[in-house]
Amino acid sequence: MQQIGHWIDGATVAGNGRTADVYNPATGEVQAQVALADKDVLDRAVEIAAAAQPAWAATNPQRRARVLMRFVGLLNRDMDKLAEALSREHGKTLPDAAGDVQRGLEVVEYCIGAPELLKGDFTDSAGPGIDIYSMRQPLGVTAGITPFNFPAMIPMWMFAPALACGNAFILKPSERDPSVPMMLAELLEEAGLPKGILQVVNGDKAAVDAILDHDGIASVGFVGSTPIAAYIYERAAANGKRAQCFGGAKNHMIVMPDADMDQAADALIGAGYGAAGERCMAISVAVPVGEETADRLIEKLVPRIEALKVGPYTAGDDVDFGPVVTAAAKENILRLVQSGIDEGAELVVDGRDFGLQGYEDGFFVGPHLFDRVTKDMEIYRKEIFGPVLSCVRAATYEEALALAMDHEYGNGTAIFTRDGDAARDFAKRVNVGMVGVNVPIPVPLAYHTFGGWKKSMFGDLNQHGPDAFRFYTRTKTVTARWPSGIKEGGEFSIPVME
Ligand code: NAD
Repeated sequence: MQQIGHWIDGATVAGNGRTADVYNPATGEVQAQVALADKDVLDRAVEIAAAAQPAWAATNPQRRARVLMRFVGLLNRDMDKLAEALSREHGKTLPDAAGDVQRGLEVVEYCIGAPELLKGDFTDSAGPGIDIYSMRQPLGVTAGITPFNFPAMIPMWMFAPALACGNAFILKPSERDPSVPMMLAELLEEAGLPKGILQVVNGDKAAVDAILDHDGIASVGFVGSTPIAAYIYERAAANGKRAQCFGGAKNHMIVMPDADMDQAADALIGAGYGAAGERCMAISVAVPVGEETADRLIEKLVPRIEALKVGPYTAGDDVDFGPVVTAAAKENILRLVQSGIDEGAELVVDGRDFGLQGYEDGFFVGPHLFDRVTKDMEIYRKEIFGPVLSCVRAATYEEALALAMDHEYGNGTAIFTRDGDAARDFAKRVNVGMVGVNVPIPVPLAYHTFGGWKKSMFGDLNQHGPDAFRFYTRTKTVTARWPSGIKEGGEFSIPVME
């Protein structure tokens, strides 16, 4: 059985205690065991990081960026290997896994601009003989806790800007798919990153709590489910840490009567069922406006859903989406489907009996479509995180907008329409962080920022883009009178610039 340890001080370190099983979701087999760190392992990683970080911070930003440049080259070189390892533990298809690496790689590319992005501000002659300048300095040792669903992209969202800014970073990846994060750490070493600057501490709640309580860690980034995001935000803040915690989602897609219905249906298929619905930007609620729109949409959706190919990533192009990540995830999805039936939603496509010869023990869930879902149902209120699309019929545009507005989550949303006025009104008024206009999954590119609103995000600065450079640095502002100084004598009233 393969054993996955930690990456500490530039080397693989075996675990010394508890482990968790890592599955191949397609076959249901345990393919590895990952070490679960205790406080001692974390303490050691922080000690090493704290010792290494000052020299990294003192390395000029251009040289730091060159390490990231080489890292991009290595990611491209090993793309197929990374995608295969990712699919094997996560279950997503190979092209989707390569996309996971690619979206992280693009954040690394953005961070190569660190010399430009870290430039401070300068005001010449702000007062008599006085200049004011501000600089961005690294925080020190930073940490990130990441979810299973993007084991390449989300770690890179965090560690690329953290490293570019001169911090050391401790990554606590999901224990469900830890191999790719370990491979990323090795590639950074090959790219020339000094030892101890990026370390991977595998683990579960014990490792997370050790991070949250460690005085030597200045900031915590988190992406995962909302209850854990809230917990981490609270405990990190109570311990005086900077925190950026991203939670779950329930993304609505409004379909106006004038939308191109084929386009809308195709968009819903990809956004609803891609990656088996295990994306925080998946569309899980379709909101057609008007009964006729709803009927037309359902009519277009059903044959498309019935044609979806579900299977293992090893089947290559023959697969649209793979299994879900664990048996527990599958059980939870099927329980929620049953609650939808019990609460009176209309199950138009039933994927409960889906089975695949030769993969009977895999965690496959067939695609489901519910129609006539209402606001009070559990399948509407909760994040299902599986291949289940719910259709909530709205009588008017205002009713559709109110649905997206009133939901507790606010990660992403979309509107499909040919009417510029409706699209503009929606984009302006909806209280959701990322909005698509005829784009179902509006994940911003690396040079913009990514972040939801409401219960999808706790904190104030988004992932990647300029926000990441703010999150991973603190500003120091210097007011200097030089060289004349205060030779005229002391000043006893508060300085004002005349
Ligand atoms: P999760 O919350 O179960 O786990 C995320 C991380 O938290 C993992 O590293 C895990 O080890 C750790 N963790 C789990 N339980 C913990 C506990 N009790 N105390 C401390 N740490 C704990 O999430 P997941 O199942 O890995 O990922 C799926 C969730 O992530 C979904 O809700 C999805 O919407 C969300 N997500 C959000 C975004 C976003 O940007 N908003 C992006 C991706 C995923």
